[in-house]
Amino acid sequence: MDKTQFLKKVRFVGDCWIWPGKQSKHRLSYKFFIGELPTEDKNIPRGERKIVGRTCGNFMCVRPEHLEVRTRDENTEYIIKNGFGIIGTLTEKQKAHIKGLAEKGYTEEILAEIFDVSQKVVHYILTGEIRNFQNHQPHDQSE
Ligand SMILES: [Zn+2]
Repeated sequence: MDKTQFLKKVRFVGDCWIWPGKQSKHRLSYKFFIGELPTEDKNIPRGERKIVGRTCGNFMCVRPEHLEVRTRDENTEYIIKNGFGIIGTLTEKQKAHIKGLAEKGYTEEILAEIFDVSQKVVHYILTGEIRNFQNHQPHDQSE
């Protein structure tokens, strides 16, 4: 697919560009309009790996102006803080499963590995609190 074909498929809804497929093409859009995609470095902690996030909270949006590179942890924090509601790709059933396993003594670290999410996500699901892990420096939070 090239840029022209891409734009032909996009639906312009309000402020957002919606991709009408099951699989979001925000990474492709980023590549077309912004530049080189961040690569996931398996050697650094999951939460610190860079991904393309959305500033509008619309999970089908592919508008380049609504995309930005963040770490997984920053993305989680952004989603939680803005009340966008969906944490990664976890379903309610998986969240309940995580809580159940935590009660049986599984650590947040292990649960993060099992469910392939950052520890921050697990911590939030279990406690409702946002916390930073590893060497992730909290950024300036002037609220
Ligand atoms: Zn958008």
